[in-house]
Amino acid sequence: MQVLGGYERGLAFVLSGPSGAGKTTLVDMLCKEFDCIERSISFTTRAPRASEREGIDYNFITKEEFEEKIEKGDFLEYAKVFDHYYGTSKSFVEAQKDKGKHVILVIDTQGAMQLMGSYDASFVFVSPPSIEILRMRMLLRNSETETTIEQRLSWAKKEMELSFRYDYLVLNQDLKDAYQVLKSILIAEEHKIR
Ligand code: 5GP
Repeated sequence: MQVLGGYERGLAFVLSGPSGAGKTTLVDMLCKEFDCIERSISFTTRAPRASEREGIDYNFITKEEFEEKIEKGDFLEYAKVFDHYYGTSKSFVEAQKDKGKHVILVIDTQGAMQLMGSYDASFVFVSPPSIEILRMRMLLRNSETETTIEQRLSWAKKEMELSFRYDYLVLNQDLKDAYQVLKSILIAEEHKIR
């Protein structure tokens, strides 16, 4: 029996959580296990990190190009995070859903708040066990300077205060357990009688 992928039109899932909470790893695991799951590829004005690829991790564009897209109404939501714009492409998400794929929007709390109440999606918050563990994970990732890490940690605290607004909370203390919980949420949502 197929546990996921039985829909003609896919569902949308919004996943938020502080940087370093493990959102990307969890979504990569889901996409690897299920062909019917796609991560929404956002547009951003931030510079790519060494490991990131254009069109796979993000669509990297200039501030001018981003503002043009805002004008044209291309975004389902967008926000400024750490001085850079990030936005979800309306057409990308709709095209995936039309193909029967469940789309996961990995976006910050500002973006999620814009969608809550107006966009049909399930809202999932991924939380790290503690701010200290988050700091350690960021240091290990070694992709940010110390100032950026402190800035991200203080933003993380603010984001975590908004977790109660989401439909589901996934505590990522152990990656395997967190993955089981997230997967179960997707399966339950697909099997929900609407
Ligand atoms: P990062 O620079 O670490 O890739 O992402 C920084 C933050 O921006 C993360 O919380 C990430 O989830 C969020 N983000 C990525 N894409 C989008 C988007 O399209 N919209 C919004 N609102 N946030 C996004």
